[in-house]
Formats: sequence, C-alpha cells, structure tokens
Amino acid sequence: MANTPYPQSYYAASANAVAPRPVLQGEVETDVCVIGAGYTGLSSALFLLENGFRVTVLEAAKVGFGASGRNGGQIVNSYSRDIDVIERSVGPQQAQLLGQMAFEGGRIIRERVAKYQIQCDLKDGGVFAALNSKHMGHLESQKRLWERYGHTQLELLDERRIREVVACDNYVGGLLDMSGGHIHPLNLALGEAAAVESLGGTIYEQSAAVRIERGANPVVHTAEGRVRAKFIIVAGNAYLGNLVPELAAKSMPCGTQVITTAPLGDDVAKTLLPQDYCVEDCNYLLDYYRLTSDKRLIFGGGVVYGARDPANIEAIIRPKMLKAFPQLKDVKIDYAWTGNFLLTLSRLPQVGRLGDNIYYSQGCSGHGVTYTHLAGKVLAEALRGQAERFDAFAGLPHYPFPGGQMLRTPFAALGAWYYGLRDKFGM
Ligand SMILES: Cc1cc2nc3c(=O)[nH]c(=O)nc-3n(C[C@H](O)[C@H](O)[C@H](O)COP(=O)(O)OP(=O)(O)OC[C@H]3O[C@@H](n4cnc5c(N)ncnc54)[C@H](O)[C@@H]3O)c2cc1C
Repeated sequence: MANTPYPQSYYAASANAVAPRPVLQGEVETDVCVIGAGYTGLSSALFLLENGFRVTVLEAAKVGFGASGRNGGQIVNSYSRDIDVIERSVGPQQAQLLGQMAFEGGRIIRERVAKYQIQCDLKDGGVFAALNSKHMGHLESQKRLWERYGHTQLELLDERRIREVVACDNYVGGLLDMSGGHIHPLNLALGEAAAVESLGGTIYEQSAAVRIERGANPVVHTAEGRVRAKFIIVAGNAYLGNLVPELAAKSMPCGTQVITTAPLGDDVAKTLLPQDYCVEDCNYLLDYYRLTSDKRLIFGGGVVYGARDPANIEAIIRPKMLKAFPQLKDVKIDYAWTGNFLLTLSRLPQVGRLGDNIYYSQGCSGHGVTYTHLAGKVLAEALRGQAERFDAFAGLPHYPFPGGQMLRTPFAALGAWYYGLRDKFGM
C-alpha cells in the first residue's frame, strides 16, 4: 500500500496535529468525487457541502501534499497574468466578469479562516517591490487597473516609504496591498480539510485516482476501491500526471524552491520586515519572502521547467536571499524544499468540462493561493447549474506548448532564460 509522507519542509515540521485519514477500500457512492486535496479540491468540497452536496475527496498522498502545503504562503490578488492581459484577449463582457472576481479569492480565505476558526497565522499586507523605474511604472498602472475594478486597499510606496516596510536597498519603490497578506499554507489546507469533515464530507488519503470510467454514471478507481459519483472534479494540478490526457498537452509542471532560515529572533526579524508584510519583487522570475510566526525568513524563487528536483536547493536560493538581505550572511538555513506549480502558455487558469459531468480547474501558473479558493466557489456554482462565472474562465483560450511533450521543457526554459536576461538588465 502506498504511504507517501509530506516532503521535509518547515511547514510539515510546524503543522497542526492531525490524525491520518483512511485509505479508500471498497466502493462508495457520492454526489461529487473530488480528485486532489489541495486548495482547489478542498475549496470545491467546502462550497459543495455548504450547498447540500455529498462529497468524497480522494488524495494521492496527504492533505496539502502538493503546492498548497509547500508554497510561499503569499496571498496575492488577481491572476498570474493581470486583468489588462485578459481585457486584450477576450471580449469586454467576459473580461469584466473575470476582473470582478480577481479579488474574491483573498476574501474567501479570510471568511474560511474566520468561520472555521483555522489556525494558520493569517497576516494582512503584501508588497510588490520595484527594482527599477520600469517596474514602478508597471505598479502605477496596476494600481489604476485594480482600482477600476473596485479594489481600494492599495498604496504606492516611494523609495523612502518602501524602506519603512522592507530593509532592502535594492528597491526604488513598491505597491502595498493591504488585502494581500500571508498564511501558513499547510495549516490552511489542514483547517479546510477539517471543515470539510465537520460538514460530513469524507477525505481518503494515500488513495490516488488511477482511472476514470467516463459516462453517464462515472466511476473513479483507486488501487483498492472506487467511487461512483454524479460529478467528478479534477483538482490534481501539477501532480495529476496523465490521468486526464486531454489536460496534459496545454500545461507543464514546473518546480520552484523555498528555503527557511533558523529563527532570527524578534529584533532581527523586525529590522527586516517591521510591519510583517510579505514581499515579492516584480521580476518575471521573481523572488518572494516573508516572516513566519516564529520569526524565520521564508525565501522562495527560481523555476525549474519540467519540475525536475534540483540537487542543492540552498545553493540556488541562498544567494538570492543574500542579495536582498546581505546582513543574513551568517544565518543558518534549517529547511529547503521544492514544489510544483502548473504553467500554461498564457499563464491563465485552465478550466473546463469533459462531457457534462467531469469538471476541472488547474494551471494558475505561480500565483494560485487566492485563485484556487475562488475556483472552488465557481466550480460549485457550475455544479448547481449557475455556470456564468465558470464559463468566463472556461472560455479563456489555451494553446499547447510549442515542441509538444518532448520539447516543451527546453522551449519554455529558453523563454525563461530570455526573460531572466531582461530582468537582469532591467528591460
Ligand atoms: C514552492 C511554491 C511556492 C508557491 N508560492 C505561492 C505563493 O506564495 N502565492 C501564491 O499565490 N501561489 C504560490 N504558489 C502556487 C500555489 O501554491 C498553487 O497554485 C496552488 O496551491 C495550487 O493548488 P491546487 O489545489 O490546484 O494544487 P495542489 O496544491 O498541487 O494539489 C493537488 C493535489 O492533488 C493530488 N493529486 C494529484 N493527482 C492525484 C490523483 N490521481 N489522485 C488523487 N490525488 C491526486 C496531489 O497529491 C495534491 O495534493 C506556489 C507554488 C509552489 C510550488
């Protein structure tokens, strides 16, 4: 029997205690079978249960095993490509609908945390940091764009003001979003899983879906059992493999790496990030960081196309951290890990139906903490027969990566190398 543990990470080491969940054995019947217990699956399950559906969640490893339990913990609004890009690629009505939803995911997280009393160190405030005047110009237009869609908790930071929120000399300014913020991501997932169970949902761990029998009454098979359901939600994201071959051609798993320092102590932590906001810079290959509740610095960055695990994560990420904070040169790194997100060519989520009873949402391409929570709501609406918002996402165009399965990784890496050069020279 499979027994896949969490990868060694700061989050796994500081996770709230939870009993292991059962492996699916034999047959169960339900309204909705959700494949994957990350934020997409758990958010879908919660909204469905709140609306009277019976829900069974199948998780290949453990709740939050994927990106949801390993990410930077940054609550970032909007999508991996912003609403202006969406406005240029779809009609005005669809763009308007997607723009209106761009700030909903963060609200859903806060509602969930409050309603189900989830202990996940939620903090308000996220900063986008500009490394040059081009970035600053971009942030100014981002603020105007977001305000056009009703988002008002934004403040532009000049060179003096950004020094007050982050002790890094590399920035020329930034944008503070008080509806951004940060969380302990694995504890958020664990809290949401407990909420699912409190509403009567069932979660099976170590129970990978290995085959979907499609048709009017679909069945999801695992190694030792099966789930008969009216609907299936596919929420396996970068860890799905080839379970649904139609989805694999238009998305690509990519790795990104995170390190965590030893505890810095209150005084040092306060000098780095006095208001405890999280920060991400504006590069294409961006760095992101924040403090934990026990005053460590979590620092992430770097992308490995095709999701191979790099041999020495600390060697890749520590120099990035020291570029931002040279004062940490003697600080020990206690944890280093990698995790996979799912990239699409447009960097917008890949959403849709297969037949009339299999639904999917995946591929939010880097920024997914807020979108995945929204996705759960939108998927649940669609299953209730209100699909207008779901269809706004499902109508986003997606194209296969150039080079097919064989060459998509080197092509994407080449593209990233080009953008990395542009970042380096501030272009
Ligand atoms: C290192 C890292 C840092 C990141 N930092 C941030 C950040 O700071 N802010 C932000 O907004 N976004 C961030 N992201 C992206 C964000 O974490 C993801 O977009 C989001 O968590 C995806 O959630 P998900 O539920 O769709 O997928 P996942 O969380 O990956 O969950 C998918 C789950 O499905 C399970 N599964 C897969 N196949 C099967 C199967 N056949 N049967 C059963 N179960 C299956 C997997 O085991 C997994 O648990 C980061 C991602 C990574 C990897």
